Amino acid sequence: MDGLVSNPASSFLASIDLNFRAAMAFLDLPEGLAERIIQCNSTYTVRFGVRLRGRMYSFVGWRSVHSEHCEPVKGGIRYAPDSDAEEVEALAALMTLKCALVDVPFGGSKGALKIDPREWTPQELERITRRFTQELNKRGLIGPGLNVPAPDVGTSEREMAWMVDEFRRANPTDVVNARACVTGKPLSKGGIAGRTEATGRGVQFAIQCYLRDTRTAGISGRRDLKGASVIVQGFGNVGYHSGKFLSEDDGARIVLIAERDGFVSNPEGLPVEALKQHQLRTGSILGFEGATSFAGEMSGIEEECDILIPAAMENAIHIENAERIKARLVVEAANGPVTFQADRILRSGGATILPDLYVNAGGVVVSYFEWVKNLTHIPFGLMERRRRERRNHTIATALERMTGKTFPADMRDEFLEGGAEIDLVRSGLEDVMRSAWSNIADLLASQPKLGDYRTAAYTVAIRRIAAAYEAIGI
Ligand code: GLU
Repeated sequence: MDGLVSNPASSFLASIDLNFRAAMAFLDLPEGLAERIIQCNSTYTVRFGVRLRGRMYSFVGWRSVHSEHCEPVKGGIRYAPDSDAEEVEALAALMTLKCALVDVPFGGSKGALKIDPREWTPQELERITRRFTQELNKRGLIGPGLNVPAPDVGTSEREMAWMVDEFRRANPTDVVNARACVTGKPLSKGGIAGRTEATGRGVQFAIQCYLRDTRTAGISGRRDLKGASVIVQGFGNVGYHSGKFLSEDDGARIVLIAERDGFVSNPEGLPVEALKQHQLRTGSILGFEGATSFAGEMSGIEEECDILIPAAMENAIHIENAERIKARLVVEAANGPVTFQADRILRSGGATILPDLYVNAGGVVVSYFEWVKNLTHIPFGLMERRRRERRNHTIATALERMTGKTFPADMRDEFLEGGAEIDLVRSGLEDVMRSAWSNIADLLASQPKLGDYRTAAYTVAIRRIAAAYEAIGI
């Protein structure tokens, strides 16, 4: 099979290729289809200039469309100084697999701008983002039915707001659905409640699904997170929300958080929200009181813990450091944080890995809800909220009359509440994460030879993509 063209110097694309081949061994696809599925359909490179600080600056960016078996295609845009076309192609392939696994109706795409956002002011970043959007628009690489970007590393709802605004300006006669041209927007620009927290929330649901499933090893046989020690690598949006939810909702101890300039640790558990406030104030997690700070390159991910959550960049766990990782459960909140070889080393040492295409799918799932909300032009729950509140009120009153007792005050509000957008988004996301977990775990249980959750997840995803290709006859 002539699959991805992978550069051995960068193991991210090569790892996806190898994972794909591992799953292929368990699938009996018609000749040539596997190659069609794994190949990246197109990668557009754009170079453009922006006049800033009294001179012209040139920028380079990419948008890859990995698969159009389902349209629009979907995936984030990252702003990172080390991005290149190969990385973007690997990320786009992962988007195709991720969307298929969680059954959201998108093909996979991804974009990047080779830029260090910390070197530019917000005003400069706005001008750069608007120019990039114009270039994408010219080539049909942004649009509600074509290609729908979202935030990724180095971008946030701010960049999405600029992009949607620029897209509307460039397409003044097509305003009705224009808001659906990107997701991850601020609420005031057509965003949805719960999109910013979505990937971290999905990480929490993924771990809960794993622990509740009695077929899994749990954490040393345990099935809940109370007191479990967790190390988080990367304290951006995903690392922060994962750590916050696991500690505040589930009682886990976040014992160490690592960033590019060092790590902070506290065996009692770090107060994640306070640490975030410290990072926002000072620009670093180091120097946080109530924790020991370790400055420098040492990453901290090799320390003792129950769960390791790599939530930063690809290839964080590789052939050089995999043997020193002590966590029993590695939860891939980032895209591609464990290389193919490192995966084998971790598993042969007895660790379990929950794979990226499942663990971090929460972002694109809630993006899907946002896109649907933009296209239907009606907030989720609007039609039935009051009716549900009235019905629940009637049930509560009936119960009180029949039993002669009053409804417990602490449950009353939650019971009567008719379903705000955030509750519907969280429950929709939980449902999707649970179904995807069942698909993966059931397949692995029925075919133990698959060997691990990643191969099972790839198999579920590839089967769905193959079925879509077969159905459309290409
Ligand atoms: N950038 C996120 C990811 O890697 C979200 C993509 C999206 O919402 O389209 O999954």
